[in-house]
Amino acid sequence: MKKPNKLKLANLPTPIEYLSRLSSELDGPVIYIKRDDQTGTELSGNKIRKLEYAIQEAIEQGCDTLITCGGIQTNHGRSTAAAAAKLGLRCELVLGADPLPVPQGNYLLNTLFGAKIHAMTPEAFAVDRMTKMEEIQKDLVLEGRKGYMIPLGASNGIGTFGYYDCMLEIAAQEEKLGFEFDHIVMAVGSGATYAGLFYCNKVLNRKTQITGIPISSDGATFKKTVDAILQECFTYTESPIDYSEEDIKMIDGYVGLGYALSQPEELQFISKLAAQEGVVLDPVYTGKAMAGLVNEIKTGRYKKGERILFIHTGGLYGAFSKYLEFAELK
Ligand SMILES: *Cc1c(COP(=O)(O)O)cnc(C)c1O
Repeated sequence: MKKPNKLKLANLPTPIEYLSRLSSELDGPVIYIKRDDQTGTELSGNKIRKLEYAIQEAIEQGCDTLITCGGIQTNHGRSTAAAAAKLGLRCELVLGADPLPVPQGNYLLNTLFGAKIHAMTPEAFAVDRMTKMEEIQKDLVLEGRKGYMIPLGASNGIGTFGYYDCMLEIAAQEEKLGFEFDHIVMAVGSGATYAGLFYCNKVLNRKTQITGIPISSDGATFKKTVDAILQECFTYTESPIDYSEEDIKMIDGYVGLGYALSQPEELQFISKLAAQEGVVLDPVYTGKAMAGLVNEIKTGRYKKGERILFIHTGGLYGAFSKYLEFAELK
């Protein structure tokens, strides 16, 4: 299969750990966690796997500036800004927050990495972020620079290879563990993490079920998103796979109040798991998804003894921006 080149930026392979106390408390399936929050410190989280491919393509095209976008606490924007600084590239970030708050969490880090911030109101961001990024790209040309545009979450064809490779990494780790996971579960925000794992799982002809838990929209919408991302990915590999919409598994019901909005019970869950296992989830993605997984286990979706691998996709810095909400928990 044809695959594009990639940079080496992430600390790989990331460990797989057994959550013994959570598993015995639930007394159902056994739960493991893949620590993709440990892909780096500045580069922490799932986005760097996708960026290894995207930024390589940017460099091959002779670009000197990375342009991307996200919410005010975007992990993806922070990983892009950090990688740009590491590689001596420049970074322009379009953020859906106007006015901009006091720098904190990922947003603080973005200022430290020297990214140029462009603020838009969340309403304008929702409809016009691509237009804004295109404008920035045109302005750069006037300065004699060349910008490379990365869409929301690096969830496009090229970004998908990051999690295609992660599935290969998991398969190699399973050989040492001596078993194959029955389920791989992760949060879904823009779709390429799911798409990459799903693609490789099919190519390897595995029986593992790949399940996404959407945290910003509904499963039906994300099935279409994943499909579109895969179609774009096939233009690189020229090796499409056969699949139907039913093969793409999404569990609805865990968006809560909406993207990046927290409810006390979600933060309570993060706090409980941190004390129980020493693992800190984030409020926007992994906290909601893992709370969802635990709820699904409690309501009997999984059989006793089945092996589940949850991907910890990162996001720790976002937790710090919710310090007041954590303080209010009883
Ligand atoms: C972006 C992100 C996700 C979602 O991954 P997608 O590939 O965008 O679906 C999950 N967890 C964290 C911490 C993220 O930053």
